[in-house]
Amino acid sequence: MDYPSLDVIAVGAHPDDVEIGCGGTLARLVKQGYRVGIIDLTDGEPTPLSTGPEARMEEARAAAEVLGVTTRVQLDLPNRRLFDSFEARVALAKEFRKYRPRIVLGFGEKTPLASPDHWQAGQITDAAVFYSRLTKWDEHFDGLPVHSIPVSMYFRLGFTSHVPLEGAGHVVVDIGPELETKLAAVRCYASQFPPAKAHVFERIRAIDTHHGLLAGFAAGELFTSTRTLGTRDLVKQFFE
Ligand SMILES: [Zn+2]
Repeated sequence: MDYPSLDVIAVGAHPDDVEIGCGGTLARLVKQGYRVGIIDLTDGEPTPLSTGPEARMEEARAAAEVLGVTTRVQLDLPNRRLFDSFEARVALAKEFRKYRPRIVLGFGEKTPLASPDHWQAGQITDAAVFYSRLTKWDEHFDGLPVHSIPVSMYFRLGFTSHVPLEGAGHVVVDIGPELETKLAAVRCYASQFPPAKAHVFERIRAIDTHHGLLAGFAAGELFTSTRTLGTRDLVKQFFE
């Protein structure tokens, strides 16, 4: 089977993570003409109010449609007991080898008081980025060709205070025009965000407005680069 090569893949633990962490950026990338994919490591179920995996899948499909993302893969690893394991790393690396992304966006923080799957997802993503390019190991990857991913960055759910990573670089993506699209995508998860949880939307709006203002935008999403960010053209960096 032929797989379309993608510019950017965002990896979440559960359907709705990627929407909250970087949905505005994904919507913007799609608008800019880039090929974008989402990989959910688990189906996110069970959760207290959802009727089950089928309903959650339908919510995820609707959210991807709102963002304009056409490639969404669910790896069916176990929700609530997601661990950084060899099998999980290989499963994700296979997707990277299939879709050949240039940039991978993954979880970059622990989420105390929320699911520990998020941190595990970040570890799995880091490892899978590495596994994707390893030669002489084809037997683990169904013979899929190796693929080197040049750039990996971290997103955050943004529900806790921002602690900078040492030696890394931060960048805010302008999502001023995309903020409402992002919120609409998150709203697709009616089972996760019923009216009693309306404060989640206010929180997302507040955090994204804050991050945007730091960089001079109406709203923004913060990413951490795994290395210090450089520029090859200082003028274009700020004016294009
Ligand atoms: Zn989650």
